Amino acid sequence: MCGVFGIHGHDEAANIAYLGMHALQHRGQESAGLVAVEDGRLRRHVAMSLVSDAFDREQLAKLPGRVAIGHVRYSTSGSSELRNAQPFLFEYAGGAVSIGHNGNLVNADELRAELEAQGSIFQTSSDTEVIIHLMAKAREADLVGKIRSALGRVRGAYSLVLLTNDEKMIAVRDPNGFRPLVIGRLKEAIVVSSETCSFDLVEAEFIREVEPGEIVVIEKGGMTSHRLVETAQPTFCVFEHVYFARPDSLVNGKAVYKARERMGQRLAQEKPIEADVVIPVPDSGVPAAIGYSKESGIPFEMGLIRSHYVGRTFIEPQESIRHFGVRLKLSPVRAVVDGKRVVVVDDSLVRGTTSRKIVKMLRNAGAREVHLRISAPPTTHPCFYGIDTPNRSELIASSHTPEEIARYVTSDSLAYLSHAGLISAVGDGATYCSACFTGNYPVALGQSTLVQLRRGAV
Ligand code: AMP
Repeated sequence: MCGVFGIHGHDEAANIAYLGMHALQHRGQESAGLVAVEDGRLRRHVAMSLVSDAFDREQLAKLPGRVAIGHVRYSTSGSSELRNAQPFLFEYAGGAVSIGHNGNLVNADELRAELEAQGSIFQTSSDTEVIIHLMAKAREADLVGKIRSALGRVRGAYSLVLLTNDEKMIAVRDPNGFRPLVIGRLKEAIVVSSETCSFDLVEAEFIREVEPGEIVVIEKGGMTSHRLVETAQPTFCVFEHVYFARPDSLVNGKAVYKARERMGQRLAQEKPIEADVVIPVPDSGVPAAIGYSKESGIPFEMGLIRSHYVGRTFIEPQESIRHFGVRLKLSPVRAVVDGKRVVVVDDSLVRGTTSRKIVKMLRNAGAREVHLRISAPPTTHPCFYGIDTPNRSELIASSHTPEEIARYVTSDSLAYLSHAGLISAVGDGATYCSACFTGNYPVALGQSTLVQLRRGAV
């Protein structure tokens, strides 16, 4: 769960990248960083904070140059500390290179152990650093060759943006294309980003997706495309559509907002209920609740209000804080729910903690009945490709039926969207990774991960 942004050929590269990162803030709030290049020198600034706190005018002025890349981080591999903040910057025999990574490698531990045994000294605990060490060791003379060689050894999810001291910006997407990565144009400049919503902010025009298994090199003379592998087998992450991407983005060519609305419509067809009002869990449940309301004819209201001055509660590491956090973030609107039969629509149910709090809150505010509707299937398996999910043992749907979960969250009923319903709502005929709902992992996991998975330790 991270966001990457890059811009090539703009007088205010760092400023534009800074803006682009703002629009990707939902993808990671732990650290923010920028690297810019001028006259063969890469300059870097990273901080453990939101984008707006990481940079001010003076800081941005210290990052001159016409090419810059940025990164916002939410750790799924490596701990949350400054040394793991990206983009990373390394010097090796091939020159200086900076890298920002969205995704998660599944064989990084094995590769790291192998590289350390050969004498590599790692500076971070992040999986991304493995890629740099592999590039440094590659025998190929040219950059694309080094990238191909390094990525030929890693498995998992990676949407990357790299920057070299000779002002090449490179965008790479793994052969499965788990995480999104798009290319756009801002006047003469080329931009790359995790999501199109950042293009709207900087007024760039969307050109196309970086294809799964493609390496795009952007340099002064223009843009060239290279293959990482001959044939890719795309398995895009369906959870980007369900929850992670911003609803105003196009992901895999599809409007996320519309896909979520269709999930809600389909949910109303599959799991109808008699009620007086449909309310979303804001913000992520809003489009699906609109869809549920349209399809069922039950009026849509904002029965929960979200405070925008607290971060995502899911991010808080301790259980105790997370419990408190739900109340901090959401409060019920008595005028909407009092005496009503309420349908609450949320995009996903992970541990069940949020739903349980919400049901209690709504009953305290006078709701007569509370029916939970989840616009995705039960989350039964952890993600190893870059979405932060708790251990299998903490995923309530991995060991409980919907009826049992309804009892736990104290709702009058609880129903999920079917897997077929989800895929048809996304609706583009592409193949998706939905391992979090099915346990079918399209890229083989490492041996140690498999053993831990069976034990419920991951
Ligand atoms: P829980 O209380 O654990 O059941 O969390 C469910 C809530 O977390 C839902 O409102 C989701 O929108 C949200 N959510 C689901 N997946 C994630 C994730 N990977 N990161 C942050 N929030 C999430």
